[in-house]
Amino acid sequence: MSDCLFCKIVAGTIPSKKLYEDDDLIAFHDIHPIAPVHFLLVPKMHVAGLADCGVEHKDLLAKMLLLAPKLAVEQGLVAGFRTMINTGSGGGQEVFHIHFHVFGGGATIPKI
Ligand code: 5GP
Ligand code: ZN
Repeated sequence: MSDCLFCKIVAGTIPSKKLYEDDDLIAFHDIHPIAPVHFLLVPKMHVAGLADCGVEHKDLLAKMLLLAPKLAVEQGLVAGFRTMINTGSGGGQEVFHIHFHVFGGGATIPKI
């Protein structure tokens, strides 16, 4: 989508601090980190959010979930990390191209 921020990051027209890329996904550091390590795992395909996913996205979602811990450990989050998927305006989503937040490090993250 031409007016989507993360599609532009996928296309490379907006720069990002990329830590992973393959045919289906990219991961890059969040521009406003909420923890010492905070990156976003993003499919290259434009899907607005989790509520827009169907069974046709199951392999992509599984790939994202399985990749998250590998990248987290690579980024030094050996003691663990938190994943977060904001969905819709009511869920705090601001960029409507699905993404998983992965963050941690430093002080213990409060329980929710
Ligand atoms: P959401 O609130 O949609 O779940 O999360 C969007 C995230 O994207 C926010 O944490 C925000 O800091 C991050 N973000 C917004 N614009 C940019 C950008 O241009 N570059 C990067 N790397 N992150 C961004
Ligand atoms: Zn997009």
